[in-house]
Amino acid sequence: MIIKELFANLAILIALLYLYTQVSTNYQLTTQSSVKSKVLTGVAGGVLGNILMQYSIQIGTTIIDLRPIPILLLAYFGGAIPAFISMVMIIGGRLLIGINISSYAAIYLMVSITLFSVLISKTKLTGRVKQFLMLTFTNIASTILFIYLIKDTNYLKVLIPVYWIVSYCSGYVAFKTVNLLRKSQQLFQKYKAASTVDPLTGLNNVRKFDEVFNASIAELEKKKKKLSLLYIDIDFFKKVNDTYGHAEGDVVLKELGHILRSCTRTFDIVSRNGGEEFTVLLLDCPLEEAVQIGERIRKTVEDNPFTLEKGGKINVTVSVGVSCYPETTEDVALIIKDADKALYEAKKSGRNMVCVANY
Ligand code: GH3
Ligand code: MG
Ligand code: MG
Repeated sequence: MIIKELFANLAILIALLYLYTQVSTNYQLTTQSSVKSKVLTGVAGGVLGNILMQYSIQIGTTIIDLRPIPILLLAYFGGAIPAFISMVMIIGGRLLIGINISSYAAIYLMVSITLFSVLISKTKLTGRVKQFLMLTFTNIASTILFIYLIKDTNYLKVLIPVYWIVSYCSGYVAFKTVNLLRKSQQLFQKYKAASTVDPLTGLNNVRKFDEVFNASIAELEKKKKKLSLLYIDIDFFKKVNDTYGHAEGDVVLKELGHILRSCTRTFDIVSRNGGEEFTVLLLDCPLEEAVQIGERIRKTVEDNPFTLEKGGKINVTVSVGVSCYPETTEDVALIIKDADKALYEAKKSGRNMVCVANY
């Protein structure tokens, strides 16, 4: 019976921990987190402790549940602030259930567990040892309380070992669950960021370019702003690869990425759309300014000695196609095609030049 109810407590604990990590995907509590994050997570822990209390096992006027575990987790991951906030909320909730000798004892229990856990969390011990010490202290303090409050010795003989086992297991599962959830969240964030970045140049990849382009079009319809696009392609890049090798070609691509960043405004969307083709999406930018930026890129590349890994410097040039909504292209959906066409014109007309679409 006790096992069944404590198990239900554990199931609730895990379900809510899972739910919490799903709604807080953008930040993870650490001792370095902002005070605001610590307070918010402390409140969430307080709510969790109070929910656990609603499913506690009643023995006379004493109630038993896993409410210390949120405090241990908060002390372990976030230090004193979140642990004390959830402690205060759990104590408040316990006093609302009823003020008697048992609730006063519960206050002593919560305060001592919180103090101990915060102290342990500040030590240099390994994670596992910290978790073990926190749980052991919780079990010892709870046992003292049970012996003090529950007079039925036969009941205590069952309760105490069962509580220790369930508490260790639940604590272990709770720490493990939170660690796993945090790790999968970190991986998710890492891969999410990587999925929009070109690994060679660090610029946006074509997927991110499409995403921003579509969002910009939607924004344009509302605000009637201008949107320009530069399509950039390295001239005779195959020759660079053939002469110096693919690895040196990559070095050139990387350096071109830097040049594109330095020649554009911080809010422009610079992307490597594939191979040796790059784009710059110029938000709220008229044609004249777009041509100036294109020309600045062309000139900077022309004048820049690209340093090779094996030593030596080479010069490369780029051709640039420019399109602008609504100045060169009335249908904004066609500005990519038009910039590409203008790039083709630049190539046909001798390369190392900037050409405007439909000119
Ligand atoms: P054009 O002036 O007409 O653009 O001539 P090009 O030689 O630059 O054009 P082409 O499209 O024929 O060749 C592009 C070359 O870019 C072919 C390919 O070897 C090279 N390339 C594509 N992606 C990469 C890459 O990731 N790294 C390196 N090093 N080379 C790449
Ligand atoms: Mg090309
Ligand atoms: Mg090329």
